[in-house]
Amino acid sequence: MHLPPGLAGLPWGDLDFLGWRDPGAPDRSYLVAPRGDGLVGVTLRVPQGVRRSFTKTTVCSVCVTGHPGSGVSLLAARRAGVLGRQGNTVGTYLCADLACSLYVRGRKRSQLAGRHEETLPLEERIARTVRNLDAFLDKVLEGEGEK
Ligand SMILES: [Zn+2]
Repeated sequence: MHLPPGLAGLPWGDLDFLGWRDPGAPDRSYLVAPRGDGLVGVTLRVPQGVRRSFTKTTVCSVCVTGHPGSGVSLLAARRAGVLGRQGNTVGTYLCADLACSLYVRGRKRSQLAGRHEETLPLEERIARTVRNLDAFLDKVLEGEGEK
C-alpha cells in the first residue's frame, strides 16, 4: 500500500475516514476508516469497462456531494471472505478524490457548490456520511470470518 503524500499534515480532526488515490496506479484508491475499536482498510478499484463511461450519476453516495462529470467515480471493493475469493465486489459512487469529509465540512468545495445548497445542519451531514460509509463497509465486510 502506498501511503498518501503529506500524511502528517492532514487535518485528522476533520476526517471521518482517510481516502487517497494511489499515485502509482490511478485506477486504485485506498480507504481507511474507524470501525468498531479499530481501523479497517479497503482497496478500491475502478471497475473494468466503466473507466471512461462517466455515468449520469454525479452525486457521491457517501457524502452526497454533487460533482460535475468525472468528479464522482464508481469504485469497487473486493468483498471479505469467500465472496471476495470468488471475485465478488461491492461498488459505490464516491468523490473521485475521496475527500468526502472535507466536502461535508465545506473545507473543500465541489465545482457545483452553490447549486445544491444543503439545508441539513453540519452534524447531521457528518452523521449521514458516516452512516453511508458504514453501510458500504457492512456490505464489503459481510463475509468476513467465513471460511
Ligand atoms: Zn463524497
